[in-house]
Amino acid sequence: MTDRKVTEEAKQQLDTLFEALSIVAEDTYVFLCDMRYDYSRWSKELVSAFELPSEYMYEAGRIWEEHVHPEDRPSYSKGIEAIFAGQQMGHDMLYRVRRPDGEYDICTCRGIVLTDPEGHPTYFGGAIRNHSQRSHIDSLTGLRSQYGFFADLQRHIRNKTPIRIGLAGIGKLAEINEVYGYHIGNKILQHFGRYLMENVTNRGGAYRLDGSRFAIISTLQSEQELAASYEDIRAHFRKGIRIDDLDISLELNAGMLSLNDFNVDDQTVYSCLNFAYEESKLNKHGDLVTFRSELTEANKKRIAKLHAIREAIARDFSGFYLLYQPVVDASSEKLIGIEALLRWKNDEYGVIPPDMFIPFLEKDPLFPALGEWILTTALSDAKKLMAYVPNLMTNVNISYAQLEKPDFTEIVRRSLKDAGFPPKQLCLEITERCRLLDLDLLRNVIVALRASGVRVALDDFGTGFSSVGLIKNLPVDTIKIDRSFIQNIEQDDREQNLLNSFTDIAKTFGAGICVEGIETWGMRNIIRNYKVHSFQGYYYSKPLPIDELIEKAKDGTIVSSTRKK
Ligand code: C2E
Ligand code: CA
Ligand code: CA
Repeated sequence: MTDRKVTEEAKQQLDTLFEALSIVAEDTYVFLCDMRYDYSRWSKELVSAFELPSEYMYEAGRIWEEHVHPEDRPSYSKGIEAIFAGQQMGHDMLYRVRRPDGEYDICTCRGIVLTDPEGHPTYFGGAIRNHSQRSHIDSLTGLRSQYGFFADLQRHIRNKTPIRIGLAGIGKLAEINEVYGYHIGNKILQHFGRYLMENVTNRGGAYRLDGSRFAIISTLQSEQELAASYEDIRAHFRKGIRIDDLDISLELNAGMLSLNDFNVDDQTVYSCLNFAYEESKLNKHGDLVTFRSELTEANKKRIAKLHAIREAIARDFSGFYLLYQPVVDASSEKLIGIEALLRWKNDEYGVIPPDMFIPFLEKDPLFPALGEWILTTALSDAKKLMAYVPNLMTNVNISYAQLEKPDFTEIVRRSLKDAGFPPKQLCLEITERCRLLDLDLLRNVIVALRASGVRVALDDFGTGFSSVGLIKNLPVDTIKIDRSFIQNIEQDDREQNLLNSFTDIAKTFGAGICVEGIETWGMRNIIRNYKVHSFQGYYYSKPLPIDELIEKAKDGTIVSSTRKK
């Protein structure tokens, strides 16, 4: 096409126009070509999504052509040639483009040619939209989705636009779903979304992130204005809204932060926002919590720690390891299983227990990778112990963010196959937090897992309002009773009654029962009177490294059934 090397001036001009174009096109990829040099700038997201050589490219059309599906290539090249030959001033095409993983995405590309006053073509610019990409629109509320949220947040960070971000959530939506049904829950979400749009963000973006949580990004409103808006919304929903024939009063939680420092990535911003939100929920009864960058030392440390943990996931999971806690048969008290429990350790922070980071990272896009690492590590460790305890059951905790991924069951099947691990000796523990997911989706995943032979346990049973509702709808093999229900069982009759009803419920649904948190001889004696199948707790063993368990298995001291006080 042309051999001319682009001049500095032409390059600057290209950048200016490109920025202008990028503001218009929100969730599409922008490209702009200076036709005099056949020199282009393409948006960074597109370059990384399709692994193009660089944001700036000579002969970008030819490079792109190699990614276009062979069947679509002839019409694509004809279109581009017509543009460069000056025969066509616009471009509107649909074609398939190969992703780095070899699959094809369907894209549409629209562009126009700009001419100079003499009518010579100067620029060819436009937007490519990837239709296979995850939707930026939430289908229930019509607001932008969490993918839209992150795309916008990244754009603001890149453009260094100061913004305020608010994150607000409806408390106890799961309970409302349970009591009134999902369609009422959905209507509440729709009402909330519309209210946000109409009353808060006529000058900014509104997003539905996940479950019952919404966000807004505002470039114009001050922190005070947003705080005042939150109090209005809160009063409105507390007073009660009418859905069908019901008056429902709702409590909210909210966090906010101002972004003026652009030396951060979107995920760190999101972690900080989550931190403020969790603070509002856990310690401030829903009062708005503003994340301060002039944080207290303790908070700063916590964020730095989270950041370090995130980075460790990306750096080959360095510092993560698993401990295994024995599970014993309730009558023989012999070892029948182990539960894998995650830890993270580094020189600066020491050993960090999972409760300190998992709830914060669950929604992180890196989390599924960590989940897969946990699964494959647990399978390979457990296999070594199975040389001594052939029928061992291995329990692995699964976070709801993993279950949500469409390829989750496939990953489990592949990991089992790669490890040569018998599926029926793997039990996945899902927690009460999974009720954040759509019940149908959850049931489908469980059914698919069990169809491949894998066992499923419902963890921390009884800690959530909807426990009974969950197990009624979900076919699980085992129910694990949370240790908070047996902590005082030696003194407390009510706990004994509760345990009785739990075992009845489990029996009704054909599930086995595992009681967690057995710490003393006294607890063990009482609980042995109930229809319980297995025990877990410090009385039998703390979580241990696999090598230590293997050593104990060799000497036959793995968990002793002759333990006394
Ligand atoms: P969990 O699944 O209910 O795990 C049991 C927790 O109770 C473990 O804490 C265990 O060390 C502790 N525990 C066991 N026996 C006793 C006892 O007799 N007394 C007392 N006081 N505690 C006992 P840990 O390891 O700190 O794990 C906390 C939670 O973090 C787990 O609760 C689980 O929800 C989550 N978690 C741990 N590992 C993973 C993981 O690999 N993936 C996911 N998604 N979550 C994990
Ligand atoms: Ca567990
Ligand atoms: Ca548990």
